[in-house]
Amino acid sequence: MKSNLQFESTENRTKQKILSSENNRGGGKMSLSIPCQTPKLHALELSLTIGCRVDCLYCPQKLLLSKYYSADKNRKSTLSFDDFKKVLDKVERNSSISFAGMSEPFHNPYCADMIVYAYQQGYKISLLTTLVDMTMEDYQKIKDIPFESFVLHIPDEEQHSRFSITDEYLELLKQINKNIKIDYYSCHGNVHPVVKNLIDPEMYAGISLGNRAGNLDLEEVPVTAAKTGSIVCYHGSEKQIGGWAPVMFPDGTLVLCCQDYGMKHVLGNLLEESWEEIQAGKEFQHFIEGLTADSSDILCRTCCDSRNVEELPSMQIKRSVDMIKEQLNKDNYTASISSNFIWKLARCRHVCVFGLGKLFRDHFFQEYWHQGLNVSLLADNNQEMQGKYIEGLLCVSPEQLKEYPDVMVIIFVKDSDKIEQQLKNLGVMNYITIFQIIDEYNKEKQSVSKNLFLKRD
Ligand code: SF4
Repeated sequence: MKSNLQFESTENRTKQKILSSENNRGGGKMSLSIPCQTPKLHALELSLTIGCRVDCLYCPQKLLLSKYYSADKNRKSTLSFDDFKKVLDKVERNSSISFAGMSEPFHNPYCADMIVYAYQQGYKISLLTTLVDMTMEDYQKIKDIPFESFVLHIPDEEQHSRFSITDEYLELLKQINKNIKIDYYSCHGNVHPVVKNLIDPEMYAGISLGNRAGNLDLEEVPVTAAKTGSIVCYHGSEKQIGGWAPVMFPDGTLVLCCQDYGMKHVLGNLLEESWEEIQAGKEFQHFIEGLTADSSDILCRTCCDSRNVEELPSMQIKRSVDMIKEQLNKDNYTASISSNFIWKLARCRHVCVFGLGKLFRDHFFQEYWHQGLNVSLLADNNQEMQGKYIEGLLCVSPEQLKEYPDVMVIIFVKDSDKIEQQLKNLGVMNYITIFQIIDEYNKEKQSVSKNLFLKRD
């Protein structure tokens, strides 16, 4: 079972995952329709220091430094442990805390301690590191953490990123390769010969560079043309998809995301405000409105990670289902449908999504699955949810599903085995997991996009 949502052909999965993640700085992804205000953040990315000494060619560090210090030269440049603890309280437990941001996390001497602390507090930990400034002692502290995502930025032959390849660095690299599960290696050029034999070539991401939503002023990385229509953020690695995260700087300043080097969208200050206050604030609202307003100049319009809503897999599936529904009533048409789930979706009377946990929270509304799958009902084992409405959708108990004729259940959790068994025991046999849908969608992507589901006999 795959661990999260991703939309690409099976054979390209690893490569695509890696490429799509290259510019993500570990921040994860969300679509930003954001259906409701939440009391706490569901993901946070941290820039533990300001000023990255790795100084990658493809990173707009100068822009960040000039903006950060433009109003006050004395702003904090390093996040303190006490402030770190304070902001953690504003993030829901079990959410992703990403140590990446816009500088090497281990420039902050407390990075390892913060990682351990956040993990012990029940957060999922993502790390994107070059290992620069990481010590063997740091490694010993973090080596047993089951990272949600661990991305290792390695030296490039062209020295686009400034590494100091010392014996200690090489030893760290060896130890980490041996004992920590690496999601992929990021590199800003050809892999440096000294480390070539130390990495798993299967996990090498190749070179994929974005223009940081227009913030990178380099000729070889072209600016993305401004997108029109309703858009969503589709940013994130396979591990973290659905986990869009604003980035917090050492003084608590919260900017839109890891692309916002120019601090165009300062949402607020997480040390001074609650997440609810920040969400209600002018800049956050401007950003949300900008996702649907063509005329907006929000960063997402020129970001390679945003997508038009109509291009989302959910909405492409919807078009195919609608077309089949329309044709079903006509004579002389029979379905020649290779995608079974499309057929089932078109024929059922109720579509119920089962599982309202983290995956649901981070993906469901944001990626328009409610519309794409024409969901009319929710179900969950959590009794506190049962009988309640979420965005107008009633949540029922699993037992109540028997009362809904022709119901199709979409299991919306990572590990579906128990729920599948539960449904079988209840006699509810018409179910599919969201990952099966995604697999079928990927297999039939060509057909979906060309609407080739029907043919005349
Ligand atoms: S600029 Fe917008 S689309 Fe791009 S990563 Fe940030 S929030 Fe997502």
